[in-house]
Amino acid sequence: MRILLVEDEPRVVQFIKRGLGEEGHDVEVASDAAEGLALAHVGQYDVIVLDVMLPGKSGFHVASSLRSEGNTTPILMLTARDTPSDIAHGLDVGADDYLTKPFDFVELLARLRALGRRKPSIVDGVLRFQDVELDRLQHAVKRSGATIQLTPTEFKLLEVLMRRPGEVVRRSELMDLVWGMSFDPGTGLLDVHMTHLRAKLEAGGRPRIIATVRGVGFRLDTPGPE
Ligand code: CA
Repeated sequence: MRILLVEDEPRVVQFIKRGLGEEGHDVEVASDAAEGLALAHVGQYDVIVLDVMLPGKSGFHVASSLRSEGNTTPILMLTARDTPSDIAHGLDVGADDYLTKPFDFVELLARLRALGRRKPSIVDGVLRFQDVELDRLQHAVKRSGATIQLTPTEFKLLEVLMRRPGEVVRRSELMDLVWGMSFDPGTGLLDVHMTHLRAKLEAGGRPRIIATVRGVGFRLDTPGPE
């Protein structure tokens, strides 16, 4: 894969560049937002690995600039600040996935492979999966053209899953991204909202698109009988 790495910390650059090079990937490096944007404008990359904390303009600025220009290259955001609002903000401005520093190289590779395989079908802020459309700007969801009224929590849950079709999103991660806590405090919060979300999506006998991966999480998919 051709990878653009936007990162200012020499040790992290060296670690990622050497590791990915050994895996046969071609890595170009930019050390700030302006250089990253300049390279992204002229190069064709399979994935952009983007640090949030850069000198000058942040990684958030890079992601939102690229998306507003219509650039749909998958973005993996690196964040040192393990706070749900940063992660949510990163996803809001157009990142497809994130890793919190420090991370294992194996984890980075796995995420990059998943992103390289996936061509996110985001056009004009609209995420699509089968007959479901989620419009982030209008905050509207449709299935086969019919509007579905979701609560803000249900919308956020669906958005997280639709950004990563076919990929298991862990329960802890959903809790973190939607509610800002990494575990369910024994209330069944996630399951209650998931039940409501599915009921709305499946109204009128439409097939299930959110599969349960027992004990792990959920995946946007067309599941067989559970
Ligand atoms: Ca940095």
